[in-house]
Amino acid sequence: MLPDSEIDRVLVVTAHPDDADFGSAGSVALFVDRGVEVTYLVVTDGDAGGNERTLDNAGMAELRRAEQLAAAKAVGVTDVRFLGYPDGRVEPSLELRRDIARVIRQVRPDLVIAQHPERNYRFIAPSHPDHRAVGGATLDAVYPDARNPYAFPELLQREGLEAWTVREVWLTGGSTPDHYVDITDAVDRKLAALQAHVSQVAHVEGFAEFVKSRFAAWAEEAGFGEGRYAEGFQVVSTA
Ligand SMILES: [Zn+2]
Repeated sequence: MLPDSEIDRVLVVTAHPDDADFGSAGSVALFVDRGVEVTYLVVTDGDAGGNERTLDNAGMAELRRAEQLAAAKAVGVTDVRFLGYPDGRVEPSLELRRDIARVIRQVRPDLVIAQHPERNYRFIAPSHPDHRAVGGATLDAVYPDARNPYAFPELLQREGLEAWTVREVWLTGGSTPDHYVDITDAVDRKLAALQAHVSQVAHVEGFAEFVKSRFAAWAEEAGFGEGRYAEGFQVVSTA
């Protein structure tokens, strides 16, 4: 694994507003504490999500972008980018790979955090088709697209974006996590980030307890002991 000292920039790529907050906001808060630059790239505006159907899709998109900005701020992230793909219909297309590769070349992250491209048969929630599509496109953008100067040559020729090799990817939502981050010191910030998604979680009774118990269970699994919280990832070396 990459040592902490070699992680200066992190890019988190997700399908929807709130995915980054469920998957990795605690770890992100700890990165920010250490002075790491973190960028969020959100592929859709989440315009098909939410409980509140008084808004049309455009209204929902605007609301969810604002909620994601607030959630990012709760863990110290101010660079949040949206690609505006339609929610619920994402495919791991060449166009999406190019759009993610572009941001990889702009941000030049050491580490990318992405959603697992495979279905989790132990727990279905993280396996939304958009998550799998974005996870797959992100891994393809990491290898080979972003590092290959001949892939999407317009990125280099028209936009001057040099090839970039991401050295490690952490996948969220998979069934075989092999790296746990103790997020106890950041769990309140993670919760605040999640609660910034008012349209998604305000109506959920006992939401805070649900979140805490879920991440406490991972801390147990990781052997961190009682009263601790953890996020789990599958680490992929991409150097
Ligand atoms: Zn999602």
